[in-house]
Amino acid sequence: MQDFETDGHRARKRFGQNFLSDPNIIRKIIDAIRPQPGELMVEIGPGLGAMTAPLIERLGHLHVVEIDRDLIARLHETYTPTQITVHEGDALKFDFGSLCAGGDQPLRIVGNLPYNISTPILFHLAEYADRVKDMTFMLQKEVVMRMVAEPGTEEYGRLSVMLQYRFRMGRMFDVPPGAFRPAPKVMSSIVRMAPLPKDQLGAQDETLLGKIVTAAFGQRRKTLKNTLRDYMGDADFAALGIDPSLRGEKLSVEQFVAIANHCSARG
Ligand code: SAM
Repeated sequence: MQDFETDGHRARKRFGQNFLSDPNIIRKIIDAIRPQPGELMVEIGPGLGAMTAPLIERLGHLHVVEIDRDLIARLHETYTPTQITVHEGDALKFDFGSLCAGGDQPLRIVGNLPYNISTPILFHLAEYADRVKDMTFMLQKEVVMRMVAEPGTEEYGRLSVMLQYRFRMGRMFDVPPGAFRPAPKVMSSIVRMAPLPKDQLGAQDETLLGKIVTAAFGQRRKTLKNTLRDYMGDADFAALGIDPSLRGEKLSVEQFVAIANHCSARG
């Protein structure tokens, strides 16, 4: 992708800048988000403001997190402090919980996410699930397919298990490259994530669950007997009724939780 000038701004590849320019797609995304006046919402990577303007119009006020100083300056020129609170910096390091401080209003998170950091940002945001009402993102279609993948499919992996453990997720619609300036090489999709109630999650030790899932998918071709040898012996698999000759991609989220809880209980 060449550097590309849009609206007087040179799109920066290193910040994953592909700006939405199709008004019909922008309207469709805003309708999917359904912003209501007074809601607490943060947009990650507002860029040139394709979604920012209609969001502010409906909400009254919006928080944004943006890393590019040139774009930050434009946001300050375009909007008043009552309309926008600009948080300058890296969304990967941003404390989204700070936006909820002192109140019990749940947070809504939206964004056309920079594709080069899509997986780490999803894991970072998952940390705030208990303070979030929902999240609606545009991502590479390939990443969204992995997020919503079912066991036994090629796309099913660590991202699917760890996100499906915490969120109900739905792929809403696809967005073609031509909706952006500059156009990315890949198809994009809109995904909505709504946190599951805490009492439905079930893992006694979520850190252990994460380690087990990482180990199970670390070497995709190997069986659970091999990949989980530090956690599970034959008797443990037998106790759970899980076949140790399977590969991680065959296990449901519930089975991963059962393995983690069995290991926690056994000590
Ligand atoms: N929302 C705009 C749109 O739809 O046209 C821009 C989307 S563009 C794909 C991604 C945006 O995220 C850019 O504005 C980019 O500068 C910003 N960005 C990239 N990396 C970031 C990071 N680590 N933290 C915060 N913003 C980031």
